[in-house]
Amino acid sequence: MSKHFVPENLPTHLQHYIGGQFVDSIGGETFEVLDPVTNQTYATAAAGQKADIDAAVAAATEAFKNGPWPTMSPRARAKVLYKIADAVVAQEDRLAEMETFDTGLPITQARGQAQRAAENFRFFADLIVAQHDTALKVPGSQLNYVNRKPIGVAGLITPWNTPFMLESWKLAPSIASGCTVVLKPAEFTPLSASLWATIFEEAGLPAGVFNLVNGIGEEAGDALVKHPKVPLISFTGESSTGQLIYRNCAENLKGMSMELGGKSPAIVFADADFDAAIDSTLFGVFSLNGERCTAGSRILVERPIYEKFVEAYAARAKNIKVGDPHDPTTQVGALVHPEHYNKVMSYVEIGKTEGRVVAGGGRPENLPEGQENGSYVAPTVFADVAPDARIFQEEIFGPVVAITPFDTDAEALELANNTKYGLAAYVWTNDLKRAHNFAQDVEAGMVWLNSHNVRDLRSPFGGVKASGLGHEGGYRSIDFYTDQQAVHITLGEVHTPKFGA
Ligand code: NAD
Repeated sequence: MSKHFVPENLPTHLQHYIGGQFVDSIGGETFEVLDPVTNQTYATAAAGQKADIDAAVAAATEAFKNGPWPTMSPRARAKVLYKIADAVVAQEDRLAEMETFDTGLPITQARGQAQRAAENFRFFADLIVAQHDTALKVPGSQLNYVNRKPIGVAGLITPWNTPFMLESWKLAPSIASGCTVVLKPAEFTPLSASLWATIFEEAGLPAGVFNLVNGIGEEAGDALVKHPKVPLISFTGESSTGQLIYRNCAENLKGMSMELGGKSPAIVFADADFDAAIDSTLFGVFSLNGERCTAGSRILVERPIYEKFVEAYAARAKNIKVGDPHDPTTQVGALVHPEHYNKVMSYVEIGKTEGRVVAGGGRPENLPEGQENGSYVAPTVFADVAPDARIFQEEIFGPVVAITPFDTDAEALELANNTKYGLAAYVWTNDLKRAHNFAQDVEAGMVWLNSHNVRDLRSPFGGVKASGLGHEGGYRSIDFYTDQQAVHITLGEVHTPKFGA
């Protein structure tokens, strides 16, 4: 029996939430949910099928057509959204414990997630109240205005990394916009999503606005993507899954927002603040267990400081505390699931043939008692990695980083852009011109200069190339979930050619 921490009143079965009711799958299907430190099943979850998605879409459609939510004033919706934010914060400790238990995320990093999720609801509450749309006058002849309206039932499909917070990124703008939703959370981590139903109910969100169907991507997710009454899909996950969903959305010409994978470069020039770059590039790839879309998982270092950087970086990586996710001193916890662990470990083996191992390279030693079979990977650093290496090109999504030297700015840019991905980039230099020129030339949806990933909810969020389609963030998210209908009114005479007169 393991000695790891188990949250109180942990559910042993997770249900769907459809039309304001907790329900099982119509056909009774379930799947097993593991905890990542023992890889033992701790709960079953209802496994949604097409019939369950049909029921959830029917409830969401009813709430959209006949419920009060889509036509409520922005202020009235904002009041509910603020209550949701408060209810999320009230669950902060419970949420952190659940998230850490289900995902293997270190507890100190799980603690911030409730505040971040709550902030999404406050932010979009403020935004819809302040929202104004365009009215245009053609003097004496026409007045045109924008009639903004929610599109309908939004299908939301989310991944397992920081699941609750990422769900809030989609739930807050879609619900704020007046849409009703069906959420299909990731099957590896359904636990924290079970908190939403009660949070929404207590905040006064009308029944049917929020619906949740648990299940496997190829079953529940696929049925949601293909449902003809779901006009838009917001998806976050792997690029290959995004490609498949893109094809499946084509049949019904659905709106799509796609936040996909990444292999983001951190570029460290010789003139950078060395210590700050070391701190930040370590945090950028090893926080959240490296299971982070914007991880700076390729570090490009200018030749004059290359050896010094590799040495300092490796020394720190070896010192990172890996262990029980519930221990507040842990910096890297357990990876989410044995399937994912196997994938990450396979890249560690590949990396040994492609680069020089300077830290990690396998399982960590001295695992906590009872957790010897957990999905633990030692923070692993490969130096001297060539740009055609698989560990340079492919997303690993774990605590593994590739370091590569460069000699000139042009070479750094070429290396930075030399993958199919384009999510984020981090540039470290004290040269103002170089920083801006590099930032503007690099193929990445988001760039941070002399910083790791710090989000501003007003800024665009999203990737280019294989990292995504469309940008969310601020009004862009509201634009995605609403239709901007143009209404034209004639003020003067209508000058119509008189056909047939
Ligand atoms: P995934 O693509 O395997 O799964 C994501 C979701 O899609 C899950 O809910 C899954 O059940 C569902 N799904 C799978 N197949 C489906 C199908 N055929 N039809 C409909 N739904 C389907 O991704 P993951 O492993 O859960 O998450 C990790 C990936 O997510 C990484 O690539 C990471 O970079 C990416 N990610 C991107 C961002 C971003 O903002 N760009 C943020 C977080 C994670």
